[in-house]
Amino acid sequence: MSKVSVTPCRTYDAAEVRQALIQALAPLGGLDFIQPGMRIGIKMNLVTLKNYHAAATTHPVLLAALAQLITERGAEAVIGDSPGGPFSAAYLRSLYGPAGLALAEKAGAKLNFDTRTEEAEFPEGCLLKKVTYTGWLADCDAIITCAKLKTHAMLGMTGAVKNQFGIVPGLMKPEFHALYPQVPDFCNMLLDLNEFIRPRLAIIDGVDGMEGNGPSAGTVRQVGCLIASDSVYHADVVMAHIMGLTPAEMPLIHAAHERGLAPEEIGEIEISGDAESFRMEDFQNLPIGGVQFGGREDSVLMQLVRSLLMRRPHVNTRGCVGCGLCARNCPAHAIRMKDVPKFDLHKCIRCFCCQEMCPKEAISVKTTPISRLIH
Ligand code: SF4
Ligand code: SF4
Repeated sequence: MSKVSVTPCRTYDAAEVRQALIQALAPLGGLDFIQPGMRIGIKMNLVTLKNYHAAATTHPVLLAALAQLITERGAEAVIGDSPGGPFSAAYLRSLYGPAGLALAEKAGAKLNFDTRTEEAEFPEGCLLKKVTYTGWLADCDAIITCAKLKTHAMLGMTGAVKNQFGIVPGLMKPEFHALYPQVPDFCNMLLDLNEFIRPRLAIIDGVDGMEGNGPSAGTVRQVGCLIASDSVYHADVVMAHIMGLTPAEMPLIHAAHERGLAPEEIGEIEISGDAESFRMEDFQNLPIGGVQFGGREDSVLMQLVRSLLMRRPHVNTRGCVGCGLCARNCPAHAIRMKDVPKFDLHKCIRCFCCQEMCPKEAISVKTTPISRLIH
């Protein structure tokens, strides 16, 4: 049975993080599965161009500590991700600097610049019968997913499971949003990715998390813990609880439960550590839920329902610099640039890639007054 550990870690002091990481991994058997000569892929959350102080990306001190523990076992630690935008060596290099990855390199990690893609048949997949993924992971003997505790506009939260969206090569991600505009389908696609790549361990960086306008433009909130598990699904249930959420209401957790991959209740999980003491009732979560209508031709009545109920992207015109990145990354081609973005809400599938990609944090998610009332 899968276990989860929750370990206090108040700061990113290197010694504290190393000690907390060792403590977090101990109930899971530590890193004993790692043998000399192995190549271990650390799948971080690199999301987009962000300074690591913003709590959008996995903190480099944690990545450095993990890489150090791996290399001490005579194995190789490779850190990588395919963030939003192109999957090219130049783009990765431009993101690695602000993400503070020089620290991890110093600790012995290799940073991934291999931008090959691989394809594999996956007959067990629920939606994905064939998976196209970032090739650097194909060369790894085991993968440790090293996620971040954050809110997420589309799914409510982004933790260990959602982190595997980064195995999809860069510009294919908007395609996936367009292919699976409905939240349940999108969740099942993510579950397929996880079942395909099967991370050996999940570690969630909850030292500083992100609340509010996540996953890239929210506010830093100290949570003060590391969450670790041999199951990405179980790790997410505990993370949701700590964020003050009801895990069963999170679409990804619900979908995982439906497929028999995880419980929906924290009480059904064997936890080492005091998860309850980290729960934050006042964590600023994003409203999710409601029906997804995106990407369909519908009747006048449905259009009215859509306009009354659905959350929508909203631009702060004073913050926008007109770079057009949101429009270029919109899978539904629902943004027209006219100095600032103009949203075609009929086409919009509410994936909120525009909000995630905006380098100026100028896009937020707005709820309608009626939707607020209902929620
Ligand atoms: S990405 Fe942000 S700054 Fe750039 S055009 Fe869109 S809203 Fe404006
Ligand atoms: S406008 Fe934004 S939320 Fe709507 S489909 Fe485009 S990227 Fe997604």
